[in-house]
Amino acid sequence: MYSEESNFNKEINFLASLCSKQYFSFPRCKDEHTCGKQHVGRVYYPCIHYFLGNCKYSFNCKFSHVLVSRVPPTSEDAVCFFSLMDGCNNQTECKKKHVSNLKELSKFIKFDR
Ligand SMILES: [Zn+2]
Ligand SMILES: [Zn+2]
Ligand SMILES: [Zn+2]
Repeated sequence: MYSEESNFNKEINFLASLCSKQYFSFPRCKDEHTCGKQHVGRVYYPCIHYFLGNCKYSFNCKFSHVLVSRVPPTSEDAVCFFSLMDGCNNQTECKKKHVSNLKELSKFIKFDR
């Protein structure tokens, strides 16, 4: 059965399964075999600029344009993009929000498909 909530959870679980290090062309994940995360092509990764509302590449972007912040990126409620892939290395200095509860998270971000 389709529901918006289960769909959101599915998308978020997929995102969380991806290796955040692979997102950058450099440095790439050095230990793909022991890392435990999925290493997929760029097209499967959401675009951080689109997420923040300003990707200049539009249709030519190598990343997927599906994940959007519901709040302005400058707002106190803006979610840390890399925390969604467990990739935030410094949560204490990172000024963004880190939310692990999916219900809570869906208030701040959404997937457009
Ligand atoms: Zn990895
Ligand atoms: Zn983009
Ligand atoms: Zn962070």
